[in-house]
Amino acid sequence: MPTKVDYHRRPMPKQAPHERIRNFDEVAVGYPPDLAREEASRCLNCKKPGCVAGCPVGIDIPGFIQCIAAGDFAAGIRKIKETNALPAVCGRVCPQEEQCEKRCALGVKGDAVAIGRLERFLADWEAAQGDIEPPPLPAPNGRRVAVVGSGPAGITVAADLALLGYRVTMFEALHAAGGVLTYGIPEFRLPKAIVRREVAYVQSLGVELRLNYVVGRTRTIDSLLEEYDAVFVGTGAGLPWFLGIPGENLIGVYSANEYLTRCNLMRGYRFPAEDTPLKQSPRVAVVGGGNVAMDSARTALRLGADEVHIVYRRGREELPARLEEVENAEEEGVIFDFLTLPVRLIGDDHNWVTAMECRRMELGEPDESGRRRPVEIPGSESLIAVDAVVVAIGNSPNPLIPRTTPGLEVGRKGNIVAEETTGRTSRDRIWAAGDVVTGAATVISAMGAGRRAARSIHETLSGACHLEVEPAADDGHHPRPGSGPAGS
Ligand code: FAD
Repeated sequence: MPTKVDYHRRPMPKQAPHERIRNFDEVAVGYPPDLAREEASRCLNCKKPGCVAGCPVGIDIPGFIQCIAAGDFAAGIRKIKETNALPAVCGRVCPQEEQCEKRCALGVKGDAVAIGRLERFLADWEAAQGDIEPPPLPAPNGRRVAVVGSGPAGITVAADLALLGYRVTMFEALHAAGGVLTYGIPEFRLPKAIVRREVAYVQSLGVELRLNYVVGRTRTIDSLLEEYDAVFVGTGAGLPWFLGIPGENLIGVYSANEYLTRCNLMRGYRFPAEDTPLKQSPRVAVVGGGNVAMDSARTALRLGADEVHIVYRRGREELPARLEEVENAEEEGVIFDFLTLPVRLIGDDHNWVTAMECRRMELGEPDESGRRRPVEIPGSESLIAVDAVVVAIGNSPNPLIPRTTPGLEVGRKGNIVAEETTGRTSRDRIWAAGDVVTGAATVISAMGAGRRAARSIHETLSGACHLEVEPAADDGHHPRPGSGPAGS
């Protein structure tokens, strides 16, 4: 226990706002070792650590932090990887302020320990040590599993099962694996090299990756079941919602999915050197208040916009985005129009969007989400001049797989119905987890649910067939992307 309590978090070195809005490089550059050790030394190593209780997957947080404080980084990363397979991803994108850090004892009077940043530090330190050997694999058990979708849920299931001796094929609709980590979250928040490293690692476990393969079109789930013993569906929630207001079909109005995919995956910012165009828009309005909205607004700035608005119908307190990303957006000059509701989009004679008509809102009584309900103020309309509008108000699962898989039960919002603890669906030999079940959620929840589904698939297939499957020996020195739920 330190003699004097240190309530002040060490700041994360970052690119300066005026520099970073001119590039797509990562904003936060990470703690150097001395700063990481200083920050780790603030941890009180509580007897009953609230942070562990606040972590969706129960990482031994004080354990790895004590290792950092002692300068034993190898022991620290081993400790995290007992339960978290993707610390480089989770240390960057998990909503720690709502989870582990929210329960940190230091947070009562001062700043919580920067748990996410320390997690990232260890992951980056390990990556800098060079190539890491995959763990020894068990003999094949003769069973085959198809994993549909290569996001965090699919990657987790594929790696877990490969490490148990299954022959796994992962089918991905896009030309690159990684799901939202690849096409949605921008490079300046999650460098794609990290995602590629994790995907390559899963392949090194023997997982076969089939890209450009749209299950439900190229081949149905029932057809896969003729060849595979089980199918896992982790196809995410990639179907964007729209506002349903006049003018939404004007040119220059994008869903956030399209906008971010054009930029991240298709490198539209390099058009015409790359094939996918992305219009340079001086004035951009992004509708929504979540991570997707922040990512879109900050991408617009980096694409050269002079003025970027976030148009959100509630107040700052209610923004669902991670606080760090809200602060980054503010620092970068994004204009926040709170308590503002778009009611109409206006175009020119050539159908290009030119303005957004908005109505003012005020906060009323709390709604079913516990947040105060926004109420429209009649007669408060005003115009925002725009050249592009990005709609980032939410997503649902794509209906393709339910439509082409008879007997697969879906919920009211198009999500596949699956048991929370096992991922079992209404159809025999079909499991599902991640955003396709919960609707748009978080990386860590998709990974955790994927791990539970992998366990259930293994229990079912090995139990039914009396397979003698020993898990791969793991001395804890190896990263196992997907082999454990992650988070912080
Ligand atoms: P996904 O990551 O969506 O992966 C599904 C994959 O399945 C995709 O690659 C898709 O192409 C593929 N697929 C779909 N249909 C088919 C088919 N028919 N055949 C074959 N393949 C198919 N979460 C956080 O925790 N922190 C954040 O900061 C954060 N920021 C985000 C920012 C953005 C822009 C977005 C969009 C999401 C963000 N999220 C964040 C949410 C998080 O990324 C998701 O909850 C998570 O990726 C869900 O994982 P998944 O594996 O269920 O699905």
